[in-house]
Amino acid sequence: MKQTESLTGNTPTPINLTPSSDPETIAMQKQLIQMQMLELQERLQEKEAKKADLLRFQLARKEEIRAKDAQELLAQNSCGHKKPNGYAALDGQKDSYGVTHLICNYCMKSFDGLENVPADLRRTLDSNRIGGPA
Ligand SMILES: [Zn+2]
Repeated sequence: MKQTESLTGNTPTPINLTPSSDPETIAMQKQLIQMQMLELQERLQEKEAKKADLLRFQLARKEEIRAKDAQELLAQNSCGHKKPNGYAALDGQKDSYGVTHLICNYCMKSFDGLENVPADLRRTLDSNRIGGPA
């Protein structure tokens, strides 16, 4: 659906509203105007229904993302970021500014800067698992 679609885009053939004194013509004109008003109302309702559908979709998508983020956070908060052998399960790279960026292999939590890695994990970091300039 084009967003720029307007109600006047597909309006029916314009009515000839030439004033008439013929009661039958007047009645037919009134009936035609009523029918066209109903048609326009239906189009408006369709347009509103489409808008509502889009809003429902956007809200559902937002909720999906929120739930996924909450699940990720829960996984990260309950992860020890350690391998079964007790070493940190963090791999990463040192950037050109000397800042080390690490990511947990299990929960994908990222740590930017060694100072943000909990001390017990920092002690068990494997320097062979950190790339970048020496
Ligand atoms: Zn982890």
